[in-house]
Amino acid sequence: MNEMKTAKTVSDTKPRSSITSLYDSYVVPTYKRSLTLVKGQGSYVWDDDGKQYLDFGGGIACNCLGHSHPAIKRALQKQSSELIHTSNLYYTELQAQLAQSIVKLTGPGKVFFCNSGAESNEALYKLSRKFGAKEGRYEIITATGSFHGRTLGGISATGQEKVKKDFGPLVPGFVHAPFNNLSAFEKAMTDKTAAVLVEGIQGEGGINLATPEFILGLRKITKERNILFLWDGVQCGHFRTGFWQSYEALLNETAEAEDFLPDGVAMAKSLGGGFPMGATWIAQPHADLLQPGTHGTTFGGTPLACAVALAVLDEIFKNDLPNNIHQRGQQTRDLLSTLIEGGKIKAVRGLGGIIGFQPVETNLDVVARLSAKGLLTVPAGENIIRLLPPLNVTEQEVNQALTIIKETL
Ligand SMILES: *Cc1c(COP(=O)(O)O)cnc(C)c1O
Repeated sequence: MNEMKTAKTVSDTKPRSSITSLYDSYVVPTYKRSLTLVKGQGSYVWDDDGKQYLDFGGGIACNCLGHSHPAIKRALQKQSSELIHTSNLYYTELQAQLAQSIVKLTGPGKVFFCNSGAESNEALYKLSRKFGAKEGRYEIITATGSFHGRTLGGISATGQEKVKKDFGPLVPGFVHAPFNNLSAFEKAMTDKTAAVLVEGIQGEGGINLATPEFILGLRKITKERNILFLWDGVQCGHFRTGFWQSYEALLNETAEAEDFLPDGVAMAKSLGGGFPMGATWIAQPHADLLQPGTHGTTFGGTPLACAVALAVLDEIFKNDLPNNIHQRGQQTRDLLSTLIEGGKIKAVRGLGGIIGFQPVETNLDVVARLSAKGLLTVPAGENIIRLLPPLNVTEQEVNQALTIIKETL
C-alpha cells in the first residue's frame, strides 16, 4: 500500500528567513535575487520586513499599470469564472478582439499569440525561414548588444557573447552587425539573408536608441532586396515610449513617420500588464505564411490572458497614459540631467518610461544602494541603470525617485 505523505501546502507558512534557504535548496539559481517581496500596490511594493519600495523596475517593463490594478483584478476575476483556457483548437471571442485591437494599433496584418518575448521572437524566426524557404534564404541579421530572449533561438539571435557561452552549437543562420551602423548591416546582407531583426531601443543592452537614419535606411534596403524588416518591441513597445511602438517615437520628427511599418513586430512584457503573454504581429503580405501545422502553442492567447490584455489597453486609453508617460519621461530626464551637471552621472538616455542613466560608480553597487533607500531599478549593459516605471506613474512619484537617486549618488 502506498502511504501518501501528508501534502504540505504553501500556506504552511515557514519563518520568512527560510524563504531564501528554500530557494537555495530547490530553485535553479539562474537569477541573483535580492529582496523577498510580499505585496504590491500601484507604484509601490513591500518586502517581508514591511519595508516599502518605489518600484521603478516594474517587473522588468511588464507592470505597465503598476501593481494590483483594479482593471486587471476585475478582468482576471470575471474571466476566470467564465473560461480560462481552451487550447487553440477552438475560437474564442477575446482572442479575436485582442488581435483586432493590435492590428488597428499597428497596421494591416494578423497576430499570432504566445506566452513570452522569446516565443514572440521565435515566431519571427520561423516566419523568416518560411519566407525564404523557396529561395534557400534563411539568414537573419541582428544587432550587436541586442537581446532577444533565452531560448536556443533567442540566444542565437542575441548579439552578446555572454548569453551564448557553453550553449553551442547555436541555431545556425544568425549574423550580427553593429547597432545603428547601416552600412555594416548592408554589408552583412547576402543572397542567403531572409530578415533583419532589431530592437528600437535596446533594453538589456543599455537603453540604446536606434537612429531615424538607421531605421529608415534599413526599411528602404530591406524593401529593395525583398528582406523582412522585423522589430523586437518586447521591452520598448506597448506605449512605453509614449507611443504604441518605439518606431513611432523614434521617427516622430521625420517626414516618413506616418508610413513606416516593419514586416513583423514581437510583443510581450507590458502586453498583459504583468500577466504572462506574448504576441507577434505580422504584416499583411506575410500574414498567411504560417499555416495550420507549421507553428503553434498550447497556451498562446488564452481567454484569460486576452481579457487582461484588453483591459490593460482600455485603461491606457481611458486615462491617456501615453501622454502621461511622455511627460513623466521628460520630467525624469530633466531631473537626471541636473545630476550630469553635478558630475554624479555620465549620461542619460531614453524616452517616456524606458530610461537609462550611467552612474560614475558601478551600476550594480548603485542599484543595491538605491534599493536600500527604497527605490527599485534594473541594471543593464554598459554600466547602465534602467528606470521602467508604470505608465501611470505620478509626477510626485518621479520626484520621490529622483530625490532617492540624488541622495544615493
Ligand atoms: C525581455 C525581452 C525578451 C525576452 O522576453 P521573455 O518574456 O523573457 O522571453 C526579448 N526581447 C527583448 C527586447 C526583451 O527585452
